[in-house]
Parts: sequence; C-alpha cells; structure tokens
Amino acid sequence: MRVLLKIRSAIQQICYPSICIYCHKLCNSKRHIFCRECFDLIDLLEKEERCSCCFCISDELYCLSCMHQTVKQVYVSEQEGPLYALLEKILQGQHYRVPAIAALMAYQYLKLDFSLPDYIVPNLYAHKKLAILLAKEISKILQVPYRRFFLRKLQNSHVLLTCFQQDQSYDKSIQVIEKENPKTLMGFTLLGPLSF
Ligand SMILES: [Zn+2]
Ligand SMILES: [Zn+2]
Repeated sequence: MRVLLKIRSAIQQICYPSICIYCHKLCNSKRHIFCRECFDLIDLLEKEERCSCCFCISDELYCLSCMHQTVKQVYVSEQEGPLYALLEKILQGQHYRVPAIAALMAYQYLKLDFSLPDYIVPNLYAHKKLAILLAKEISKILQVPYRRFFLRKLQNSHVLLTCFQQDQSYDKSIQVIEKENPKTLMGFTLLGPLSF
C-alpha cells in the first residue's frame, strides 16, 4: 500500500509537479505557488513612511503630489518580485490563481487596519472577467457586497475599488466612480504604480 502511495506521488510529481512560479524550483507542497525562499521574498508593505493618500514612500503624512488629492490608494507590493510574477501568470491564463491574490489582498487590507467599505467595485476597464472574480473573492472574505452595475447607488457610500495594478484602466475607473460622488473612495491594488 505504502509503495502504491509512493508511486502515486511520484507520478503526480511528473504529471503535476508544483514548480515555484518565480524561481522555477520544486515547491514543498503541490498546493504551493511559491517555494519557501520566494515566499519569504514577499514583502507586504506597511503604512509607516508611506503617504497616507497615494501610499508612495514619503517622510511626511502626505507626499507633495497628494496635498490636494482626495482618493486614497493602497497596494500590497511594488511592481516587482514574486507577486509581479504571479500576476503575469494570471494574466497569461492561470485564472484559478485569482482567489490566492484575493486572499492576500484581503489580508493586507485587514492588516493595514482600514475600516470596511460599504461596497467593493471591480475595475471594469481591463481584464473585466478577472477583475470581477477578484472583487467577488475579496467581497466574500471581507463580507462586503460588490457592485458592478448601478454605480449611482455608490453615492454617499464608502467605496473600495479593487484592481490588479495601477494602470490607465484603474485611473479611468477612479474617474468614473468619483463622478457618482461616493463619500469616500479608496483604490486598492495588488501592485502599486508602474515604475519607469
Ligand atoms: Zn522559488
Ligand atoms: Zn502621496
């Protein structure tokens, strides 16, 4: 019996080896996305030394470009490292990995100790299906409803826009939601702004 199990696990390793998506070494468990070394590289950003509005690195409470901004923005990681590789895989077709990102984003949101929004709204201007799936998964974990239609109901509500990364489609979503006059709007992405 034990031999059979061993064979089964050997075959499974050949058929479905779990390879770290970042360094391409074997993972400890077949359920893991990253090997231990790469998992340790994931560095969830903290509030300290970050602008309270756009979340960029800043010594002051607000960075210079945010003195007059109203939309608060937060993200989990910069545009690099294991999470960047994970997002690339998802956008290349590994859609089943979206719940892992949602869980990480929900964890980051709670860790940063933000109060729960009234609604979660997905970014509808890029990778629409995935963006909706992401919002749905985050909404399940945080137990906050998500909205993709009837945006006018966002008026006077606390709204959290969820998105994979800060790109043009994200900016467009912010503009569209702002027109509905929410009480507060926060943009929350896995990755921060693109660096050039
Ligand atoms: Zn690795
Ligand atoms: Zn700022």
